[in-house]
Amino acid sequence: MDIDTITAISTPVGEGAIAIVRLSGADAINITKKIFKGKNLDEVPSHTIHYGKLVDPETNETVEESMVTVMRSPRTFTREDIVEINCHGGLVSVNRVLELVLSNGARLAEPGEFTKRAFLNGRIDLSQAEAVMDLIRAKTDRAMSVALKQMDGRLSKLIRSLRQELIETVAHVEVNIDYPEYDDVEEMTHHVLIEKTQQVYKQIEGLLQTAKQGKILREGIGTAIIGRPNVGKSSLLNALAHENKAIVTEIPGTTRDVIEEYVNVRGVPLRLVDTAGIRETEDIVEKIGVERSRQVLKEADLILLVLNNGDEFTDEDERLFEATAGMDKLIIVNKTDLPRRLDIEKVKQLAENSLIIETAIIEEKGIDELEQGIANIFFEGDLDTGDLTYVSNARHIQLLKNAKNALEDAINGIEAGMPIDMVQIDVTRTWELLGEIIGDTVHESLIDQLFSQFCLGK
Ligand code: GDP
Ligand code: ZN
Repeated sequence: MDIDTITAISTPVGEGAIAIVRLSGADAINITKKIFKGKNLDEVPSHTIHYGKLVDPETNETVEESMVTVMRSPRTFTREDIVEINCHGGLVSVNRVLELVLSNGARLAEPGEFTKRAFLNGRIDLSQAEAVMDLIRAKTDRAMSVALKQMDGRLSKLIRSLRQELIETVAHVEVNIDYPEYDDVEEMTHHVLIEKTQQVYKQIEGLLQTAKQGKILREGIGTAIIGRPNVGKSSLLNALAHENKAIVTEIPGTTRDVIEEYVNVRGVPLRLVDTAGIRETEDIVEKIGVERSRQVLKEADLILLVLNNGDEFTDEDERLFEATAGMDKLIIVNKTDLPRRLDIEKVKQLAENSLIIETAIIEEKGIDELEQGIANIFFEGDLDTGDLTYVSNARHIQLLKNAKNALEDAINGIEAGMPIDMVQIDVTRTWELLGEIIGDTVHESLIDQLFSQFCLGK
């Protein structure tokens, strides 16, 4: 049975100089042939690009000049025949080409359908497909490089090797179950089991340890700037945003209209939380209420607590210290250009291990130190995505945690001398959970749900 040929505009809609209408499916070349005047596309070699005119077969009207790329199955992203029609940008012209393709036999692709086909046809695994999604959404260069590596199959490779180890372990256990009369087999089984399971356990643990950095790379460090009115919060925000080019994203459909702003501080992506609160209401603690600011604080990975050097230390300042006890925090003593009235000894005492940075934002002083301080907290000076395999996807992290728990059960069982077939159940369960990460053992509904989150045309 033939699967239908799908199409979509696969470049971002908007200004671009060139837009691509992509077709994938058994009829991709036939459909293109109907509207393309140029070389016979049946005869051109795969993975070549050809100049020609796009003509509406009904009216014989020339719609566009274009370059058409032909890529034959199976060496393509979807493993199906793919044609990419490059046209001049401009919404009207691209849409015309798309309509032409649609009226000649292609169907409009659902969001993520190209990637879904790549997955279903075995071209990529699920974690790679998710990486495509991450790539589209990447907010920083680092996040992009992590996604690229995952798309490249780094995480998949590691997960596969862990599963292989587990399979081998299970095989040893089978030997033991089949030949229980040999004492030395049992000896060895016990030995191998402990060693292998602990090895895999350590690797899962290691992966999970990258999750914090992975999350940061992916989503940015949730950062809250707090302080009494007039201490310089907005000025600080502007200084950070000014030097580091803020990307503002509005998240529609959330109850509070959060405006998220991303700034890149020495390679560390900061996601400034609730900057709208800072910008518009001036004082988040008073205006949005204690509950709401608690929520803001709870979501934050990093607190920038701003104090006024030219003012006395107040009860309100002290409350901010209390509310952020135990959190990653930088204390910013601002307005050092003014004579000191702040009780700095008190501040030092409350700061505990947090770094205190003196700034005079109005004179652009201390900003460098502040940025270095931020970088140090998270990456000890330098964030290097180099050789580490990161996990950053919430679904992967949850599965890894479950796998770790299952394996822990197995290890406890072995150590407690549990029957070997009981242990085997836990090891097998671990193997299955890891399989879900790469899509070997997932439900169809989950697959549909994951792919429906994609952008159109990917
Ligand atoms: P916010 O209420 O905490 O957001 O504080 P703002 O950023 O709006 O700043 C309040 C006032 O303090 C503004 O007039 C700023 O220009 C001023 N200000 C900010 N930083 C400094 C500084 O380092 N020194 C001095 N003298 N004034 C500053
Ligand atoms: Zn302000």
